[in-house]
Amino acid sequence: MANFHPSVDLLTEYTAGILPLAQSACIAAHLNYCQQCQQQTARLQDLGAVMFDGLTPVPVGDSMLDSVLARLDEEPPLSYRRVDDLSLGRMPAVLQRLMRGDFSELVWKKVTSSLRISYLKTGDPSHEFAFYHIKAGGRIPEHTHRGSEMTLVLQGGFSDAAGSYHEGDFLYREASDTHAPTALQSEDCICLAVLDAPLRFTGWKYRWLNPFLRLQAG
Ligand SMILES: [Zn+2]
Repeated sequence: MANFHPSVDLLTEYTAGILPLAQSACIAAHLNYCQQCQQQTARLQDLGAVMFDGLTPVPVGDSMLDSVLARLDEEPPLSYRRVDDLSLGRMPAVLQRLMRGDFSELVWKKVTSSLRISYLKTGDPSHEFAFYHIKAGGRIPEHTHRGSEMTLVLQGGFSDAAGSYHEGDFLYREASDTHAPTALQSEDCICLAVLDAPLRFTGWKYRWLNPFLRLQAG
């Protein structure tokens, strides 16, 4: 059971369908691990439906109706299929669809001796969507962000100055937060990270890597 969840604001934006694609996929993946947020989202959907029902109808022309009907046949870019069988440890459906295989089949880029990153394509032009693989006991060098960072723990766990996080936990950090996550000693950690600006290492030893960490959005 997850202990760290998206805020109500984020869940509301998710439910309303106004979050950028990559962030939305990250929240959809958290829902696979979290019954509490599934229920919250269902309540927000009901609330949205009631509010929608209360709107005054506005007449539209035939062309509007035709274009809406035509879109029904379009293939959605990503499917956020709700998984009713909530079994912990199963890869969320949205990630299965993006990965088309398992972790070993992805292309991993080695950043430091304990950190590898694999970038996935979501079609979101403004957010990077990537898996971080941290060796058991390994540390991501201290870094900051120029933008926001969503993190979802998929396997193992990690800790930083603020706490310790396990499978299914969701974290949202703002640009100014500096942290140095360390994987738990017991097993390798795999996280999903969604960024809108690249990481920036702050320690002198790793600063030279910064120019290589361009945002891999798209
Ligand atoms: Zn949750």
